[in-house]
Amino acid sequence: MKPSPEVEHLITETKKQLEHLRVLGVEAIPGGFFSASPSTAQKTIEPAATDKPTISPLRDTSLFGEIAPAAAKLSPSTETFEQIHADVGDCTRCPLHRERTHVVHTEGNRKARLMFVGEAPGADEDVQARPFVGRAGQLLTKIIEAIGLKREEVLIGNVNRCRPPGNRAPMPDEAATCKPFLEREIAVVQPEVIVVLGNTALKNLLDSREGITRARGRFHEYKGIKVMPTFHPAYLLRDPSKKRETWEDLKQVRDYLDQTGKP
Ligand code: URA
Repeated sequence: MKPSPEVEHLITETKKQLEHLRVLGVEAIPGGFFSASPSTAQKTIEPAATDKPTISPLRDTSLFGEIAPAAAKLSPSTETFEQIHADVGDCTRCPLHRERTHVVHTEGNRKARLMFVGEAPGADEDVQARPFVGRAGQLLTKIIEAIGLKREEVLIGNVNRCRPPGNRAPMPDEAATCKPFLEREIAVVQPEVIVVLGNTALKNLLDSREGITRARGRFHEYKGIKVMPTFHPAYLLRDPSKKRETWEDLKQVRDYLDQTGKP
């Protein structure tokens, strides 16, 4: 006889629970999973002392017991920026190449402790082949100086290296095509902190579904590197009232670098 939909649902959910316990290292369930007595029922979810769950180092249990893969850490890279940029070459991997003048690579100190990641080049960057050199870039330079650093001391890059037409945000597939080059640069430099500027950088570097307004103000993590999301300087030009929150975010970055920095 075919079980009713409710029973089928119960069976599916039970199988999921059992698989969950198996992943946690529970190999046997004494007294049977459906045992009626409360004391036995409790035992069913507590593995015997000799049978402690073995949790793979690659996995973390979250608050409600789901298994979430731990973030992969960055492996050391022996590449150089020159090799990565040569690999980008005269890129035609995505449609953005059609209207660009120049590919705009990450620039700055290749031993930087701090990196800034934006969205994509604008008109000025496209002409000069350098990131953040227009009005938003000038504001970024001031932000960097406000935390006691010089522009040349940090690393500055973008998720996309070609200017999107009309300064629109890069499409997800355009960002996905270009991001690996940025990730290879990050692996070379391994900065201690990355500041992601605005929603596009946040979404693409952290695969985050949170918007910048919610995500900013606290450290996140990218492969073992601290990430501080904050407002994009172009947005600050449109809404200067957001400079105060940006300053709060950058002070946290400065304080973290001060605490961990060598004298
Ligand atoms: N906006 C960005 O996101 N990047 C730049 O390089 C310039 C403006």
